[in-house]
Amino acid sequence: MNTVRSVIAQSGLPLLEARMIVGHVLNVSRAWMIAHDSDSIAAGSLVSIQEMFRRRLSGEPMAYILGQREFMGLVFKTNPSVLIPRPDTELLVETAIDLLQNRPGATMLDMGTGSGAIAVSVAHYCPQAAVMASDTSAEALAVARENAQNLGARVVFVESDWYEQLPVGKFDLIVSNPPYIHHADSHLEQGDLRFEPPQALTDFSDGLAAIRKIIAGAGGFLQAGGWLWLEHGWDQAESVRSLLMEAGFANVESRRDLSGIERISGGQWVISE
Ligand code: GLN
Repeated sequence: MNTVRSVIAQSGLPLLEARMIVGHVLNVSRAWMIAHDSDSIAAGSLVSIQEMFRRRLSGEPMAYILGQREFMGLVFKTNPSVLIPRPDTELLVETAIDLLQNRPGATMLDMGTGSGAIAVSVAHYCPQAAVMASDTSAEALAVARENAQNLGARVVFVESDWYEQLPVGKFDLIVSNPPYIHHADSHLEQGDLRFEPPQALTDFSDGLAAIRKIIAGAGGFLQAGGWLWLEHGWDQAESVRSLLMEAGFANVESRRDLSGIERISGGQWVISE
């Protein structure tokens, strides 16, 4: 008999992943599966479960198989047109929330929003902020819009290649998790990254090309006193701080993620035009 217990045990996958797939298809909680582990699984569900097991065994990311990923305590729709939201990026969101909280009407721009994880989380936790998000990919923007709608977050989306098609405006905060992986980094051929949109991961250059572009243009889109915060790679903090200082940013600093890695850097635009 195909019981919950035997199907999970024979999946060939780590227990957690097998349970996530079975729970997703049956639309039941983990607690339910534990309490009902000798229940049999209906044939139709079993076919869907086996198909998802097969996809996972061939390396496809869980977030694409399930079509969703939790981030900042919210569930985001994900598909192969967007980068999968990562726990590392919660540091950038927390930094943004700190800057925008208790400042009604404060404005934020999230560049290269992808799934919308950053912009939608900030809009959710700071509902009085005015949040705009851009991406060059129409497919990504469709996912981001759906996430904003599902989570009841108010975000204005703009299709734009970095600053190219943005409406004129001055923000209190610009954030971005841009593609920052060096084109020759072997991680691009490993794990989940093999299935993610390459243009969301790498600049096809030295890893700093998108970051340079964002920093160079930020002054034109920031209020005097506004902040720019960027996520970057584990070994890029010093370079990003230098780029920020060379561009005229003040109060430049980096912050460490939960693994102790300098994961984001930012600075304040004190020049008024
Ligand atoms: N942090 C991601 C990784 O190393 C990369 C995300 C990005 O390029 N913005 O897998």
